[in-house]
Amino acid sequence: MRLVLVGAPGSGKGTQADVLEARLKTPKVSTGDMLRAALKAGTKLGLEAKSYMDAGKLVPDSVVIGLVEERLGEPDAKNGFILDGFPRTTAQADALGALLDRLGKPLDRVVELAVPSELIVERIIHRRTDKRTGQIYHLKYSPPPPNAELEHRADDREETVNKRLADYEAMTTALLPYYQKLGLLVRVDGVGKPAEVTARVLGALGLSA
Ligand code: AMP
Repeated sequence: MRLVLVGAPGSGKGTQADVLEARLKTPKVSTGDMLRAALKAGTKLGLEAKSYMDAGKLVPDSVVIGLVEERLGEPDAKNGFILDGFPRTTAQADALGALLDRLGKPLDRVVELAVPSELIVERIIHRRTDKRTGQIYHLKYSPPPPNAELEHRADDREETVNKRLADYEAMTTALLPYYQKLGLLVRVDGVGKPAEVTARVLGALGLSA
């Protein structure tokens, strides 16, 4: 299955992509995770991306498109992938479409996780990640175990969240109709417990929970 997950920051894309990765035995390809890994490793690409990411701005298209093209060429992505956080612009969507056309492997579905923005802010500012395992927690709704080594993403701070949400709104204005026209878009209610949302996503993909 070749899937794209679309949703605002904090909509649960990352969490759902992790579950779907295990369920569908298909790798999650998250541009945010790849950029954070590059940053941590101190690569040239990571350093280039850092100022954009810390400010909650989009990294230039050419950078992320190159990353995704490389990643989708790896053997484990040959039979499918779950894209999380890419494409975010129509230029990225065009580049992805052109790449998949060349490979003769078109997208199967684009799943939009719909969550109202007032809920999003509450989710994001309490979001923490265990830096050893990458597991995502919410300080109130999905509290971490006492031994977790928690990290608060620089771009998850309240001052940056509104900027990222505004960017997301601007992006979806173009991206969702783009995929709707192609007949690929399905909208899933992203409010509720992660397992409830997973069941809805699987239902939308025609799979049983
Ligand atoms: P995410 O983990 O998907 O929220 O991404 C974190 C940050 O990485 C974003 O705020 C952007 O700075 C950058 N980023 C991730 N994916 C993309 C993308 N497809 N296009 C541009 N920037 C991206």
